[in-house]
Amino acid sequence: MNIEIKDLSQVYKNDFRALNRVNLEINPGMFGLLGPNGAGKSTLMRILVTLQKPTHGEVFVNGMPLSKNRKEVRSYLGYLPQDFRFFAKLRTWEFLDYAASLAGIKSKKQRLSAVDDLLEQVGLFDVRNRFANKLSGGMKRRLGIAQALIGDPKIIIVDEPTTGLDPEERIRFRNILSNLSQKEVIIILSTHIVGDISSTCSQMALLNSGEVHFTGSPEQFIKQS
Ligand code: ADP
Ligand code: ADP
Repeated sequence: MNIEIKDLSQVYKNDFRALNRVNLEINPGMFGLLGPNGAGKSTLMRILVTLQKPTHGEVFVNGMPLSKNRKEVRSYLGYLPQDFRFFAKLRTWEFLDYAASLAGIKSKKQRLSAVDDLLEQVGLFDVRNRFANKLSGGMKRRLGIAQALIGDPKIIIVDEPTTGLDPEERIRFRNILSNLSQKEVIIILSTHIVGDISSTCSQMALLNSGEVHFTGSPEQFIKQS
């Protein structure tokens, strides 16, 4: 797996330039996208998950242009959007079962076994019969990452997942992501908190006003700032 972002720009209809000539190379492991509110992190992530078309530039996944391979790339993408919400009154396990059926897992038996594995992985097995909308904020966030992991994605994109979490839940969430990065997958984590990145990511970029101001390791970043 390899992602190359080449000369990517996003100009919105009001002429606002949310991304300006962004170039990045992302390899397996955990990649941190650090930046303050309004830096363009969500914009970049929406482009990566093919929800939005950039004004200029291209993303290459394993050398293939994303704009011409949306369907294939989508089949191995997992995404936790920043504003992930539950709309239905479903039990925690039912929510994941439903998400698994949307993801195309047709066999009920296969779905239920995947759901149990995911519930264990994110520490929600004991609350699997609780209604999803009654879970605590931290548990909801973990259910959010569980749905992003359905179907063993090779690229996992998580947008500001730790915002509003207490320190304990923040660490739990980081640990779930760290465990994932032991596989040959790319995980891209956006955050405005350096600590989220320094404790988990091997590579990072700093995005500010739509431009990349630093790429390298979190250790290098902390040393120079
Ligand atoms: P429009 O011509 O309708 O303004 P835009 O491309 O500007 O089209 O907006 C497209 C979508 O993005 C709309 O749903 C709009 O509400 C949303 N949007 C517009 N401005 C912002 C903003 N500053 N931040 C986030 N979303 C925005
Ligand atoms: P971040 O995730 O780093 O907070 P965003 O990508 O959400 O950054 O937003 C970057 C900038 O682009 C912000 O100033 C935001 O208001 C603006 N923006 C986002 N979406 C739209 C849109 N659809 N139309 C106009 N402006 C937008």
